[in-house]
Amino acid sequence: MLNIILFGAPGCGKGTQAQRLAAHYDLYHISTGEVIRGEIKAGTELGRSMEAYISRGELAPDSIVVEMVRNYMASHSDKGCIFDGFPRTTAQAEIFDEMLKEVNSEVTTMVFMDVPEEELVRRILLRGKDSGRADDSSEEVIRNRIEVYRQQTEIVAEHYTRQEKYAEVNGLGTMDEVFERLCAVIDSKR
Ligand code: ADP
Repeated sequence: MLNIILFGAPGCGKGTQAQRLAAHYDLYHISTGEVIRGEIKAGTELGRSMEAYISRGELAPDSIVVEMVRNYMASHSDKGCIFDGFPRTTAQAEIFDEMLKEVNSEVTTMVFMDVPEEELVRRILLRGKDSGRADDSSEEVIRNRIEVYRQQTEIVAEHYTRQEKYAEVNGLGTMDEVFERLCAVIDSKR
């Protein structure tokens, strides 16, 4: 079973490529950011508790995010999955590994999409214009999300490097070019 983690800074193109990869390899696609936005929109208690973090560009608490993924996987275990925006801390990665082990599964590979910071900010501001996402419209919040990524998330690469599951692709170029690069890595790990 293929379990692919798409990894990279906010705005690197994970969401777009995750959708295409899910269709190409017949996998589920979970974006923890989207699940959180869904909870907020639905006005659930969980959503309300996470709103403040998101609006500041901070991470939601590990315990909440992990439970969201656990719930998702309980009803989506008949095929592999693309994980988009998860795990974002080493603590999440450690719990995630255990979670997969319990169902005799594991992460196949983590693929990092490399995009320079100025391009990230440019893309997110552009996306904010039509997505209506509040956290995509303020340059200050965007810069903070990138900073949080550098402080707390970047290090998760080391976790999967130790497991010899880490790979990188250049995230610049057309969407087709990046897709081809991702497929080449995934095909080499199957
Ligand atoms: P982006 O990667 O472009 O910032 P996402 O949709 O992946 O967009 O995430 C939006 C926000 O949701 C993040 O800034 C963070 O506050 C929250 N979030 C998403 N995934 C996680 C996670 N795994 N752990 C903690 N917070 C998360």
